[in-house]
Amino acid sequence: MPTTTLINPFTVQIDFVELAMREPDAHNVRLASVMRGYYKDQEALDRLIGGGGDPLHYETFEKHLPEEYGHLLFCISKLQPGVVGEEYFMTKGHYHTRVNTGEIYFCLQGQGYMVMKTSDGKFDAQRMTRGSLVYVPPYWGHRSVNTGGEPLTMFCVWPGDAGHNYGDIEREGFPKRIFQRDGREVIE
Ligand code: MN
Repeated sequence: MPTTTLINPFTVQIDFVELAMREPDAHNVRLASVMRGYYKDQEALDRLIGGGGDPLHYETFEKHLPEEYGHLLFCISKLQPGVVGEEYFMTKGHYHTRVNTGEIYFCLQGQGYMVMKTSDGKFDAQRMTRGSLVYVPPYWGHRSVNTGGEPLTMFCVWPGDAGHNYGDIEREGFPKRIFQRDGREVIE
């Protein structure tokens, strides 16, 4: 049996006005420059970074927990609104290192999509608005995309031993992207 460390129960307060975790152990900030290579229009990303002094792209608020079978990891994830060229702001996206692990994303604010793919070519995009709970099943790589005008804020829960694999998505990308054309969302 894998090790599961015994820890004491605790409570975390989520601020429903700020839509942030109070007293997180970790606040991870991702600036626009980490997205080099991910957007279709790379020059537009360079302009965004060059012109705006590398603006905030997305951030997570987390508690430190054992990354072990049996534990549940969780975070608040906040993705800024905007476009790179015509493409809506998105996260890098990842598979789980242990691919047979799922995840729950509960949308607290904003609107957008959870974009998903499997390594054998299946694609899915689930619409998210405040109150949408998206179930990301095992084996599906996942990325969030903000198509709205305010931050896309989500509460996420995943198995402690899932791990993150960013490399495969960085190489493969997703089969479809989400663009803003004539004020509309286009998935292609
Ligand atoms: Mn995940």
